[in-house]
Amino acid sequence: MIKREDVITWLTCYRQVIKDNKDYLTELDSAIGDADHGANMDRGFNAVVAKLPSVEEKDIGTILKTAGMTLVSTVGGAGGPLYGTFFMRAGMAVDGKAELTPEELAGAFDAGVAGVQQRGKATLGEKTMLDSLTPACQALHESLDRGNDLKVSLDAAAAAAEQGMKDTIPMLATKGRASYLGERSIGHQDPGATSSFLLVQCAADCFGKD
Ligand code: ADP
Ligand code: MG
Repeated sequence: MIKREDVITWLTCYRQVIKDNKDYLTELDSAIGDADHGANMDRGFNAVVAKLPSVEEKDIGTILKTAGMTLVSTVGGAGGPLYGTFFMRAGMAVDGKAELTPEELAGAFDAGVAGVQQRGKATLGEKTMLDSLTPACQALHESLDRGNDLKVSLDAAAAAAEQGMKDTIPMLATKGRASYLGERSIGHQDPGATSSFLLVQCAADCFGKD
């Protein structure tokens, strides 16, 4: 089971990973965007972690929804509201739950990804965060369905997200700022797909230890 403490640990761990990768994400965004993805994610997740003490006794749905609303209200541009939507929708899917089964976690991720898709109107192959999140969700389900435990399944999800992130390099961007570059977007790794891979990697590091 995934407990609320694990969710708090996940968000706190991700804040640190974002801090450690802030310059890298900015560098990726400077190639095909406006060089703010690292700063945006850093500001957003600092605000999320600052809010956690007020919700750490609440259910997992409330924790995730609060994280999402905080991202929407503290981060401008495309990435913040899209990550905000991911966490709000994931939280709505597990409303009132103090613990999650692996399947419930996978369901929350699915709901988050569906929210990103709806809000950003992008689909797979358009060089966005969906290119790492979607294969990650698929791999998570496939692994759980084969009877693997949560840790093994999240490792598979992180590997799929990493591959999906790398697969954005040859893609032509057709959504977001990178699409303004047209053909010149080809040959660069998408910053949002990179931060999304890091989010799944963090989940693999924080969940499924027992
Ligand atoms: P902005 O593009 O406004 O500067 P960020 O730099 O924080 O915002 O985030 C950029 C990332 O957002 C991109 O790398 C991409 O992964 C993601 N993104 C942009 N537009 C969309 C969209 N319509 N759907 C899904 N993801 C998107
Ligand atoms: Mg940007």
